[in-house]
Amino acid sequence: MKIHEYQGKQLFRNASVPVLDSHVARTPDEAAAAFKALGGAIAVVKAQVHAGGRGKGTIIGQEEQRGVQLVKSAEEAASVAKNMLHNRLVTIQTGPEGALVNQVIVEAGCDIERELYLGIVLDRATAMPVLMVSSEGGVEIEKVAEESPEKIFRENFHPAVGLHSFQVRKLCKKLGITGPAARAADHFMKSLCRFYVDLDCSMAEINPLVITKSGEMIALDAKITFDDNALFRHPEIKELRDLNEEEPAEVRAGNAGLSYVKLDGTIGCLVNGAGLAMSTMDIIKYHGGKPANFLDVGGGATTQQVVEAFNIILSDPNVKAVLVNIFGGIARCTTIATAVIEASKEIGITIPLVVRLEGTEVEEGKKMLAESGLAMITADDLTDAAKKVVQAAAAVAG
Ligand code: ADP
Ligand code: MG
Repeated sequence: MKIHEYQGKQLFRNASVPVLDSHVARTPDEAAAAFKALGGAIAVVKAQVHAGGRGKGTIIGQEEQRGVQLVKSAEEAASVAKNMLHNRLVTIQTGPEGALVNQVIVEAGCDIERELYLGIVLDRATAMPVLMVSSEGGVEIEKVAEESPEKIFRENFHPAVGLHSFQVRKLCKKLGITGPAARAADHFMKSLCRFYVDLDCSMAEINPLVITKSGEMIALDAKITFDDNALFRHPEIKELRDLNEEEPAEVRAGNAGLSYVKLDGTIGCLVNGAGLAMSTMDIIKYHGGKPANFLDVGGGATTQQVVEAFNIILSDPNVKAVLVNIFGGIARCTTIATAVIEASKEIGITIPLVVRLEGTEVEEGKKMLAESGLAMITADDLTDAAKKVVQAAAAVAG
């Protein structure tokens, strides 16, 4: 689960990770009041969407308006907020449709001496979190990793022990940080590593992490992702979820207990088991098609869940054909067959449907489908199914 920058920064304040003063504004008047409350000569208005790249992003219909902007008066804060609020911000991470800005923050300005990058993720190779820092702050870290990987420095830390001071000193040496900033780094990095572990984050990224002219170290940005499987331990974090930022079909699937990820192809996939879902996507691609989604109905899928899964797949206008690929291990093929019949009665499936069933009660399941009189293409194995569905989708698409 992702959260907004303003929420991340509030959590940082609670954990004594240094951030600047800021206020959330949902109207231009609130932005003007926030500017006055900060009391400085300059402030920065920042659109709050989950996507990164806001500083270089543009507001649809006002191409000169970025998602992060310096302002010098309360009036300017209000007018910039007005440009952003209830409009869509397009960044390299949003796609051309952009993300709707429902709130902004007005944050104190700061005298930046250096911009660094800092990120913490789980390093599966060492089975420990890894702290990564780079002198290349403010730019995309993926680009740095590709073009100049020697500029990224890493330290693993044990979750039960945290980051050691000697590790911070090593990183400071590599980054050329000395004096008061090095002392600030010790507090900053150790607090953030503790934060990462205590709150069960899967990623904490601060880009840029700045060193000010007076040697302070401050998180200017905050991108935090939490491990969904640990959210039950943090009800207060669960509350921070913003459904407006999520794909509606994925939210709907989550509510029905289905794992669904929307993709941009034309072949809808209804599969049981995550591994089978992955290989179904692979084999569709292998035969020249493009999956429209990943969908795992789970091992013990009920008829209702499968009907809902059909609803979700068919609500995607890009879907030109559907492949049902079921291996009845725990789930019975008869349950799936019942669900397919019910779904087509309920919603009326008008596009080609390719069905491949295997496993428990397969003969009965196939018989039910055959006797239902529904128009569908049956397949005997996965290759046969993939070929048929790719062909059918291509025929519909013309
Ligand atoms: P994003 O990563 O989505 O583009 P950031 O929060 O990193 O958004 O902001 C983009 C840039 O704006 C930063 O790299 C920094 O140079 C500048 N910036 C952000 N917040 C402030 C601030 N409070 N004071 C001064 N500059 C800022
Ligand atoms: Mg950033």
